[in-house]
Amino acid sequence: MTPAGDVGSCHAKPSYDGVFFYAVKTTGIYCRPSCRSKLPKRENICFFQTAQEARAAGSRPCKGWTVKS
Ligand SMILES: [Zn+2]
Repeated sequence: MTPAGDVGSCHAKPSYDGVFFYAVKTTGIYCRPSCRSKLPKRENICFFQTAQEARAAGSRPCKGWTVKS
């Protein structure tokens, strides 16, 4: 389940960590929901279920949180 179109309401909420990741098309950065960085425009966001998928799509992890692995 991906709350696409509703990222604003689940942004910066750790309870959504592990549920999905979002990548910002304009920057090529992906974040997890608990990230407190500025929320991008919705049309510039795409969703992934895992960080691996986001990386496979060419996105880089946001520096707002530490990536292990
Ligand atoms: Zn971030």
